[in-house]
Amino acid sequence: MPDKKYIVAFDQGTTSTRAIIFDQNGTIVGMAQQELDQIYPQNGWVEHDPEQIYTHQQEVFAKVLKENQIDVSTIKAIGITNQRETTIVWDKTTGKPIYNAINWLDKRTKDICNELKKSGLQEYVIKTTGLVIDSYFSATKIKWILDHVEGARAKAEKGDFLFGTVDTWLIWKFTNGKNHLTDHTNASRTLLYNIIDLQWDSKMLKTLDIPLQMLPKVQASASDFGTISVGDYKIPIYGVAGDQQAALFGQGGDKKGVAKNTYGTGCFMLLNTGKKPSFSKNGLVTTLCASFEDRKVKYALEGSIFVAGASMQWLRDKLQMIDEVSETESICFNTTIAEDLYVVPAFTGLGAPYWDMEAKGAIYGLSLDSGKNEIIKATVQSIAYQTRDVLEAMTADSGQLMKVLKVDGGASANEYLMQFQSDILNVEVDRPQMLEVTAFGAALLAGIKAGLWTKQDGSIFRDNNTLFKPQWNEHIRFKKYRGWQFAVERTKTANI
Ligand code: ADP
Repeated sequence: MPDKKYIVAFDQGTTSTRAIIFDQNGTIVGMAQQELDQIYPQNGWVEHDPEQIYTHQQEVFAKVLKENQIDVSTIKAIGITNQRETTIVWDKTTGKPIYNAINWLDKRTKDICNELKKSGLQEYVIKTTGLVIDSYFSATKIKWILDHVEGARAKAEKGDFLFGTVDTWLIWKFTNGKNHLTDHTNASRTLLYNIIDLQWDSKMLKTLDIPLQMLPKVQASASDFGTISVGDYKIPIYGVAGDQQAALFGQGGDKKGVAKNTYGTGCFMLLNTGKKPSFSKNGLVTTLCASFEDRKVKYALEGSIFVAGASMQWLRDKLQMIDEVSETESICFNTTIAEDLYVVPAFTGLGAPYWDMEAKGAIYGLSLDSGKNEIIKATVQSIAYQTRDVLEAMTADSGQLMKVLKVDGGASANEYLMQFQSDILNVEVDRPQMLEVTAFGAALLAGIKAGLWTKQDGSIFRDNNTLFKPQWNEHIRFKKYRGWQFAVERTKTANI
């Protein structure tokens, strides 16, 4: 049909790279995906190959077009969403990365972070960047690369080496080195961006010895990031947002007061707090929402949990207790566990609201009745308990009692987890039929800039949702959550 118009989302996640085609009704027309290699050079280190990130993105794009016989001229724009904080430094002349991408989960810079904390920088960091000092964010990863690759800092100072999060790397590669750009959401995860003045922060750059020349220009999430050439046809990149902010936008979270929780590798709850930043007293971070050229930026409070769905891979790959992560659902429904069996999956420390980089995972409450299935069930439950920790912090900070939690992400497909989540929170859990909300958010940003949709369209496309309603009485909820809190207390390094 000649008047068909499509938007394509590139969704470059931690475990996979996808290209998804959306039609004008926001319906998925086709999707292609490839697994991304996880490189673990040492305990606590996690890397990706940046070249693979790019080639996989090219391949899945070509594949989704071919498989769905989409004429490239019907694609009106591309939106990019990406795993955030992951850090790439490359040579702008050769186009080659000078080191592997250092993943957001990587813990190698925790000593640098401890030094920064000791120097009393924490308060300044919170007020300017909205974040806390933690190896999770990009800045110390950049410093590590510049400190460890010979001659890197001098070259970066000369402007020969460039830094980018995954969005910036993809834009630079797809525009053949023309555009070195990022958006507000990704910049706000680097620990280098002043989220009040909307500028790279000179004190942070100086403290970490990172040259300004290597940083990308920051612009609105729905704006012009350049074009991707397919033969003679040029497709504009009109939307860029980090995965969690893209999901918030895709969930109708452009409005103040809307919150969502995405269950992927990690788990991330974001609450839109409007045009004034609010700073947490309870271990959450402040971050920028997907932004527009014609409007002031909006802020969100975020609770970041490092290990959620990733604990299912741990059950599958390390403990070999399951063959497929989806098996966990029926195992949970069919297994009764002791009241006080808890798995605390602090495999890469504890994120919000604890921020304990040194914590290690633990299982509490083992008895002779505890077998494989019991451990699986307790691990699934840990995702919901961690979410309650974050929701408690969010309620305390915002003074807003949440009635409904919008959810999405791979692990939200698990019906047991969603019901347990509703029960442990005493909040309704609202799951859309289309779980690719992150990609949809990026497509929506691009489609708005392309004039295909308006900012209000986000919620129009959401129907056929499933609502999980709380079923427990307060006594059970209190007891179970109390047990979890004790387990976490015993896991924190301060208490060892
Ligand atoms: P990401 O974008 O972080 O790569 P996704 O949103 O694609 O993550 O979700 C993948 C994660 O969800 C994986 O960690 C996987 O273990 C988990 N997952 C997928 N299906 C299920 C399920 N049925 N039950 C529990 N976890 C699941």
